[in-house]
Amino acid sequence: MFALDGKIALVTGASRGIGRAIAQVLAEQGARVVVAFASQEAAANEVVSALCAAGKQAEAVQLDVSDSARVDAVIADVVKRHGKLDLMVANAGMSVDALLLRLKDEDLDRMLAVNLRGAMACARAAIKTMMRARTGRVVFLTSVVGEMGNAGQSGYAATKAALIGVTRSLAREVGSRGITVNAVAPGFIDTDMTSSIQGDTRAAVEKQIPLGRIGTPADVAAAVAFLCSDEAAYVTGHVLRVNGGMYT
Ligand code: NAD
Repeated sequence: MFALDGKIALVTGASRGIGRAIAQVLAEQGARVVVAFASQEAAANEVVSALCAAGKQAEAVQLDVSDSARVDAVIADVVKRHGKLDLMVANAGMSVDALLLRLKDEDLDRMLAVNLRGAMACARAAIKTMMRARTGRVVFLTSVVGEMGNAGQSGYAATKAALIGVTRSLAREVGSRGITVNAVAPGFIDTDMTSSIQGDTRAAVEKQIPLGRIGTPADVAAAVAFLCSDEAAYVTGHVLRVNGGMYT
């Protein structure tokens, strides 16, 4: 099940956290994975080395998704070298947490540029080649916060809620070309993004999760692998919640 042999995948923000776990699982399922990193080159090279040492196929490439010209160039280069791009996972994201009263325009602009415009730029560049191939998979990383809301995260929530609109719209635009477009909405996942939440606050979060634990990057990666697979061929425009039941 969920075999990805022969597929070419690009995962943004794949040097750590959820992106790294996605790169690992896609490669384990047989895909050749382009591990895109913004600035953490050494970490990305480690991901690639570990995968190659295990007999999987992976390569690292620098890609700041807020630079649309660079997004176009990187994806064009992948297509030139490998002949196609089958799986585009727009994982890169960031958050500047602040109550709206204190949220600075520059922080809101940065979240919009990375989380929303960056993800859309990746999808736009990827579907150009997928439309010609009449097949492909686009997966966005949204968040439980985009659906549920969270005090102190109105800016981040805005970008993630917007991605749900993008998912549903793009699914309608490209379905006739054999391309599926879906989103995974993680809940609270143990990564660098959430590492500052400790102690009582962390215990309070755990209490809100029916499954009684914070999620792992591998929990999210498994959902992405499903959406990338042939078995998910009839799933599009969907938001798959991977949140331990904290929001249903
Ligand atoms: P993380 O901070 O560990 O990883 C984010 C990755 O995105 C990093 O590799 C970072 O370098 C990269 N990135 C940031 N800005 C970039 C840019 N301009 N260009 C390219 N890459 C950039 O966080 P994570 O928890 O692994 O998050 C991965 C995705 O999952 C994000 O989109 C995040 O919003 C989403 N998410 C995370 C959680 C959670 O609880 N951790 C919950 C819901 C959604």
